[in-house]
Amino acid sequence: MIENKIDILTLSLDEIKNILVKNGEKAFRAKQIYEWLWKKPVTGFEGMTNISKDLRTLLDDNFIIQSVKVEDLQVSKDKTIKIAFKLFDGALVEGVLIPSENRATACISSQVGCNLGCEFCATGKMGLTRNLSVGEIYHQIVEIVKLADDKYNLSLTNIVLMGMGEPLLNYDNVLKSMEMVSSEQGLAMSPQRITLSTVGLPRMIKKLADDHVKFNLAVSLHSANDKKRSEFMPVNKRNSLSELRDSLVYFNEKTNQRITFEYLLMEGINDSLKDAQEFAEYCKSFPVKINIIEYNSTSDKRFKKSPNDSFNEFVTFMKSKNLVVNVRRSRGMDIDAACGQLAGKKK
Ligand code: SAH
Ligand code: SF4
Repeated sequence: MIENKIDILTLSLDEIKNILVKNGEKAFRAKQIYEWLWKKPVTGFEGMTNISKDLRTLLDDNFIIQSVKVEDLQVSKDKTIKIAFKLFDGALVEGVLIPSENRATACISSQVGCNLGCEFCATGKMGLTRNLSVGEIYHQIVEIVKLADDKYNLSLTNIVLMGMGEPLLNYDNVLKSMEMVSSEQGLAMSPQRITLSTVGLPRMIKKLADDHVKFNLAVSLHSANDKKRSEFMPVNKRNSLSELRDSLVYFNEKTNQRITFEYLLMEGINDSLKDAQEFAEYCKSFPVKINIIEYNSTSDKRFKKSPNDSFNEFVTFMKSKNLVVNVRRSRGMDIDAACGQLAGKKK
């Protein structure tokens, strides 16, 4: 399908303009094309209805629009919808639409699989196939916007990069797509409504700070003890918690943003009071918000969700330290739609 054609979503407005002029077309057409690519996105050139047939053919002969196809939908009892997106090469990634009374959140993927191998994570077991392109990231959102409107008459209010993959290992494509999501030339969503979730790669977090990003940063901490964290998150062996803390201090200084910590409570793994004490201690270096998340079981039976008693004790302890604590009970459990638990079961 790709036939050596260029993905037009990688071109800037000026680059499209130059190509048109070289082919004897009017420069102003570039702006119309750009609108069809980003503002009212189409997945094929035939959808660009205010453009001549000849120009559409010229575009079709030379370019593709690298988007995604909705392959399958599963609707949960609580209305959460899991979407399997098929990519041009047949690979599948997953996204989730999480509706609530006055919000609709899209959870999207950044990579096919992930090579960081967190032991508790279903995606981590798949290994990495490839990065998603800018268009593949952007069009997951476009499809979820349509779905939220069609099914629930809701506008999309939030985006979380918490599906498959480690967004900071597909840095350029993730940043470019989020820039277009928040741009007036694209979906014009405030960057404050976007959250990037990372396993916590200090070097890349410093880069985000240097690039002055305006979206929210969430770090999947899951343990504030180096030895423990390294046991189930191998990435911690190369990036210690103190390096991570330094990069977060730097991020906070440069962007003035509060950091969100995600903490998945797993029975006997990271849910003791000692774990909570270490976590609270780790939160002292900068302003934080904490999301304590219920674990969703996967095929790996070593990891189970924390029982209610320990869960509540952990939460109460964190709150007693005057920390901002949110509790996230899982949504879409009956259809395995928890973010981070999306492992392309169809495969
Ligand atoms: N790679 C990034 C983003 C994708 S994972 C990261 O690790 O942050 C998104 C979130 O889902 C992470 O916090 C991850 O730890 C969490 N997660 C992974 N497996 C899960 C499971 N089985 N149940 C609940 N959350 C899970
Ligand atoms: Fe990758 Fe995130 Fe899963 Fe870890 S939790 S394996 S970083 S997707």
